[in-house]
Amino acid sequence: MNKRVDHEEDSAGTNQQLKISKNMTVGEIAQAVNCPVSDVILYLLRQGIVCNKNKMLPDALIMELGRHYSAEVTPEVPVNVRSSDIVAKEEDTGTHIKRAPVVVVVGHVDHGKTSLLDYIRKTRVAQKEKGGITQHLGAYKVVISQGEIVFLDTPGHEAFTMMRVRGVRVADLAILVIAADDGIMPQTVEAIKHAQAAKVPLIVALNKVDKVDAKRVEEVKAQLSRHGLMIEEWGGDTMFVPISAKTGAGIDKLLEMIALQTEVLELKARTTGHGIGYVLEAKKEKGHGSVATVILQHGTVHVSDFFIAGVVTGRINVLVDTQGKRIKEVGPATPFLAVGFDELAQAGDIFKVISADEYKRVRFEKPKQHEATMGEVGENALIMILKADTDSSKEALLAAIEKLAQQEKQEIAIVQSSVGAITESDIELAVATRAVIYSFCVKPEIYVQSFAKKRGIEIRLFYVIYHLLDELKKLIVLMREPQKIEKKTGEAIVRKVFDIKGQIIAGCYVKSGKVIKGGRAVIWRMNKKLGEGTIQTLQREKRAMKEVATGFECGFVITGFSDFQEEDRIECFVEETVQPQE
Ligand code: GDP
Repeated sequence: MNKRVDHEEDSAGTNQQLKISKNMTVGEIAQAVNCPVSDVILYLLRQGIVCNKNKMLPDALIMELGRHYSAEVTPEVPVNVRSSDIVAKEEDTGTHIKRAPVVVVVGHVDHGKTSLLDYIRKTRVAQKEKGGITQHLGAYKVVISQGEIVFLDTPGHEAFTMMRVRGVRVADLAILVIAADDGIMPQTVEAIKHAQAAKVPLIVALNKVDKVDAKRVEEVKAQLSRHGLMIEEWGGDTMFVPISAKTGAGIDKLLEMIALQTEVLELKARTTGHGIGYVLEAKKEKGHGSVATVILQHGTVHVSDFFIAGVVTGRINVLVDTQGKRIKEVGPATPFLAVGFDELAQAGDIFKVISADEYKRVRFEKPKQHEATMGEVGENALIMILKADTDSSKEALLAAIEKLAQQEKQEIAIVQSSVGAITESDIELAVATRAVIYSFCVKPEIYVQSFAKKRGIEIRLFYVIYHLLDELKKLIVLMREPQKIEKKTGEAIVRKVFDIKGQIIAGCYVKSGKVIKGGRAVIWRMNKKLGEGTIQTLQREKRAMKEVATGFECGFVITGFSDFQEEDRIECFVEETVQPQE
């Protein structure tokens, strides 16, 4: 174990120079304590924790790692610190211009987030060339008379998960979509809380107003005030716009509101110098390897530039704009696809252009990172491999699965989670670890499907996060230890008591059901319970029986009880195992 002790330690025994914080991934912790990530993974495996370099750990484990590596554990980096750090640092240098806001759309499922984004994209994003395909980059830019707006095209909860987990603030503004007919729903409340925690200003877009009357609009305004969002019209500071993503009503107004709010935020960007920004989405693409959608906050990036994103390095081979067109360079607040990552980056990683020397130093001195292998996983753990189409959906799933595991008190061991096609080595890993492969929006190739079948591995394919979670929940219920319940099998009445060589036998008549050898017997006299024991021997007409049914006479010996009298009532019970219900 590569435990670092060569730094100055303070009186508490922690190393003043080594600092880890509670929202770091395993890879980031390894970097912070100057240790190969495989060492950290191995250490965790010995504690029975299976993880990979991208895993976030519970606080208790971070504290444990802090102790082990003699590093100081600092509290979680607040959500807006890292991004504002960057901005603050950057503000000292170069000339600055106004930059477009990055907007995320949040809200309850089915309230119209996708429809709103689709409507804006269809009506506002210019198709440059005839037949030109608009590249799906997870973000797009809209031009209105007041300026430009960048919309994050990922569902809001994914963007927020990314921001929360990585401690960054990618979006400057959130549009909270509420369906007028439904009003405030659980995910609306969650979105309000997330936006407030991330200190991202909210604009409420009351959608589907084509379906309701004016009275309903007033009702939702009142609901909002009960959740701490007082709209401007009522003297508060929450912007509120009724819209319809179906007819397009109110959407111009919404875009104007965004522009207005942008003025207030005074977003500025340095246009020259090295680019710095965020990874919005990362994925593997056939023929291109690891790619990512990136948005710069400052500076520019050119083809052939070296860069670092989180713990991943790379050199730009190709830059692609949202129209699918290859470009040579790109400036701030314009989403683009970067090809040339040495490994898969993660949504929320800080992307930074670096010099060739820095690149060499980071890339070649960086310890080799390994995915986790199977460790000591509990006997009842649900073992899975997770494949996802994008890094942000992977992150959202990991967070949701972890939450489910906590809620259900069920160990879920994710032996590997990665983005991209299901490969034969995934199948081999599943065989070695007895895992089921859960695939989100990644359809296995036919040859992989048949390979999986041959190796007896199940690939479960989902396109909706909730469906995947629902199935996991059902599985957890099925996996639970069967419950034991006691069932009454019958009742017998004592007719005569025999004493055979000191052994007291109750001669009985089975009045209902049946009595069973090995069952628990409870003896009653009138309404008073006299005692209980196990039916040790059961006989009928001198033959040993396993059970005796209604209407027959029998004799039995009960362990722990012998004080029978005629007319005593004996109830018989057995234990049965039942599968727990949901
Ligand atoms: P999401 O889950 O929030 O992304 O919701 P969707 O955009 O998928 O919308 C859910 C349903 O509501 C779809 O059937 C849409 O056609 C419908 N919908 C969305 N916006 C409107 C609207 O403004 N008016 C009406 N009448 N239906 C809408």
